[in-house]
Amino acid sequence: MQGEAGTANPSAEAAAESLRPLGTGGARASGGSWRPAPSVRLTVAGHGAAAAAALVDPMLWPWALGAVAASHAWLLAGGLTPGSSILGPNVVRLPAAAVARRQVALTFDDGPDAETTPRVLDLLDAAGARATFFCIGRRARALPALVREIAERGHAVENHGDSHSHATAMFGYARLRADIAAAQETLAELAGRRPRYFRPMGGFRNPWLDPILHGLELRQACWTRRGHDSVRRDPGAVLRRLTRRMAAGDILLLHDGDAARSAAGTPVSVEVLPPLLAALRSAGLHAVTLGEAAA
Ligand SMILES: [Zn+2]
Repeated sequence: MQGEAGTANPSAEAAAESLRPLGTGGARASGGSWRPAPSVRLTVAGHGAAAAAALVDPMLWPWALGAVAASHAWLLAGGLTPGSSILGPNVVRLPAAAVARRQVALTFDDGPDAETTPRVLDLLDAAGARATFFCIGRRARALPALVREIAERGHAVENHGDSHSHATAMFGYARLRADIAAAQETLAELAGRRPRYFRPMGGFRNPWLDPILHGLELRQACWTRRGHDSVRRDPGAVLRRLTRRMAAGDILLLHDGDAARSAAGTPVSVEVLPPLLAALRSAGLHAVTLGEAAA
């Protein structure tokens, strides 16, 4: 889907929004008032129009109902697509300035993990690379020293929710806000800096997320490419997925928590990281945190 910003076509507008890079992502964290994404405004307006049509001519009510159902399906599809911005701004690439600096962002989800995270930190240090860790609040409270260490070694600790519940996308406003806010408090205290980015679990979202993130001064960040290292046990296949068409500006997703194990019993992300860092180096690319890339 391609489109230009400012067009009257809401799906094209949403597509243009989804391509908007980090650093030009609108009013997030600027203190401005929150406005629903165009798709959400359109859906609300559509509900009113459908109700009015059914009142004016009762024969129209099946069509009105169908239109309402279709708009809900559209929002649901947007919520289930990690690269989509239908439900609000979503960072999936680094901004132009970072591309010019030949920067990429390595991001690690679902940690901290007592075994994998220290090994990832050592590999990053050896390569002079910095990364962004989207930590789970309850895991951070179980391993507080490790979260402090991530930050002290120059990496960014960001928010991946508190419970990492598989039902997160179904949470209502209050429960979702409480989950994200709890992780925000834990991670801010341990890392010594309030997280500025939030990554929804599995990239799934619901319409409550955007206003909640706005209130907590968080920006939503997904990824350009992922290797599925939490489910695939073949490090070679994961590496190929991550490095295919690799370019400056990419945001790559790996896992330090819940990493799959290779045949040798090693976390797949730990096996993938050395050749991935070597590939970055030979391509003249520099691994930085999301915050550094946005500076
Ligand atoms: Zn996750």
